[in-house]
Amino acid sequence: MPFRRPWAILAPMRRSPRCPICAQETSRTNDAFPFCSPRCRTIDLGSWLGEAYRVEASPPSDLPVEMVEQLLRGPEA
Ligand SMILES: [Zn+2]
Repeated sequence: MPFRRPWAILAPMRRSPRCPICAQETSRTNDAFPFCSPRCRTIDLGSWLGEAYRVEASPPSDLPVEMVEQLLRGPEA
C-alpha cells in the first residue's frame, strides 16, 4: 500500500492550491508542491515525523529535507 499523507486525502485538487503550512498559494508546477517552498515541505515532514516518533528534542525546521524523505521512504520499501 502506497504511503499516504493526511493532506492528500483531505485536500483534493483545487484551481488555486494553497500551501497547507502557511496558506500561501502554490501550484502543481512547484517543485515543493503541494507546499509553497522546500521550507514548508520540511516543516510538514518534520511535524509528521515528530508526531510519529515523538522526537521532541529535534525541531522540525532543523531536519534536513533529504534525511526526512529518506526516513519516510524506509517503511515503504
Ligand atoms: Zn508555505
